Amino acid sequence: MFLGHFALALAAKKAAPKASLGTLVLSAQFADCLWPVLLLLGVEQVRIVPGLMRASPFDFVSYPISHSLLMQLVWGLAFGVVYLLWRRDLRTALIVGALVPTHWLLDFLAHRPDMPLYPGGGPKVGLGMWNSVPLTLIVEYGLLIAGVAIYLTATRSKGGHNIAFWSLIVFLAVVYPASLFGPPPPSVRALAFSALAIWLTIPWAAAADRHQAQKL
Ligand SMILES: [Zn+2]
Repeated sequence: MFLGHFALALAAKKAAPKASLGTLVLSAQFADCLWPVLLLLGVEQVRIVPGLMRASPFDFVSYPISHSLLMQLVWGLAFGVVYLLWRRDLRTALIVGALVPTHWLLDFLAHRPDMPLYPGGGPKVGLGMWNSVPLTLIVEYGLLIAGVAIYLTATRSKGGHNIAFWSLIVFLAVVYPASLFGPPPPSVRALAFSALAIWLTIPWAAAADRHQAQKL
């Protein structure tokens, strides 16, 4: 899942208007922010197997720190506690923390049964949405459109066009099919470095959010 995680961050703005969209994106995408770092450190492993699934050539050999359900819950708790200490806002901290393990749920829909429940073995699960390109496109873009709509009902522009916001949405909408239909990355190292680009979306989303005010 890719766009779906951003969609949940956008939608969460309605429930947590005080949180920056940058914080919400970091929360919903924390697993995919961590993953390329852990790949480069050699802690987690992936193999590139062209044709493995219709919508993904990645064999996620091992990624328990970034993508197991238990660790997602731990990261969510840590994220919520840090936010609470920083902002002293329990309600927002709960939403920001709870957003972290939603990543696992959405990936569970998309991945083949490669999602660990906890580190160190045990069953792996996944519903395999990526076996179908049309289903993947409908779900990913459907979620993105819903997320954008909810964000725009919860906020209003402080004036003029929000170029940061719309450029981010267009960037996401274009980069996703490019990765889906383009050639697979030439190496795991190349994949990890390109996946690090996800960190850029955090300050980008924060800048977009500064241009929006809460709708009363
Ligand atoms: Zn993920």
